[in-house]
Amino acid sequence: MAWGGAILGTGSMRILIVEDEALIAGFVARALRAEGYATQVAADGDQAIDLLEHPWDLIVLDLLLPGRDGFAVLDAVAERGLDTPVLVLSARSRVDTKVAAFDAGASDYLAKPFSVDELLARVRARLAPGARADRRPARPQIGIEIDHGRRQVVLDDGRRVALSQRELAVFEYLLRSAEQIVSRERLLSAVWQYGFDPRSNVVDVCVGRLRRKLDWPIAIESVRGAGYRLTLAQAG
Ligand code: CA
Repeated sequence: MAWGGAILGTGSMRILIVEDEALIAGFVARALRAEGYATQVAADGDQAIDLLEHPWDLIVLDLLLPGRDGFAVLDAVAERGLDTPVLVLSARSRVDTKVAAFDAGASDYLAKPFSVDELLARVRARLAPGARADRRPARPQIGIEIDHGRRQVVLDDGRRVALSQRELAVFEYLLRSAEQIVSRERLLSAVWQYGFDPRSNVVDVCVGRLRRKLDWPIAIESVRGAGYRLTLAQAG
């Protein structure tokens, strides 16, 4: 086995390295540990997904893996609602692969062969104090707050819109991924936990109700064959 069962290194920042090539995994792990990070290597997608139950500050992710691939790992990170940054490190350098990785939630993408200095610089940038808060603003430019107690969306002009529990869960998921396409399947698994047939139209019905309740500055568009995208109008 190419991976150690234990986390190596004494640093407080914990990095999961998902890489099936032992040479690359060892090289990346040593470079990160030399910088003071604690590392663990998962040699395939299934191990990586199992290890998501532990807290990680960053995941370095290869895409081509035995078993479930890097995209399955990105989906698992999203399904669990984790905000762990994922830096994809892949020999696949085509633009459409990069776009697909970013759409699936990757925070950064470095093509192989890579320079270790560039990898370390990107890791530092992701783990810098404030980087995490900046990445997913709790409050987008337009003031939108969620009053969980009353299950209301509060807009900065003072309007309050009451939502059902499911509507609120779908809205929060779309808001967290604002400007990105979120597939129907991902919403179904995040909010309904596969309690419904994937062919069911519960997601569409719920999004339809959200659209009727929420208007400017919030728009939820359907992206044919792909899913939904929430966009926020810029403040005038
Ligand atoms: Ca690989």
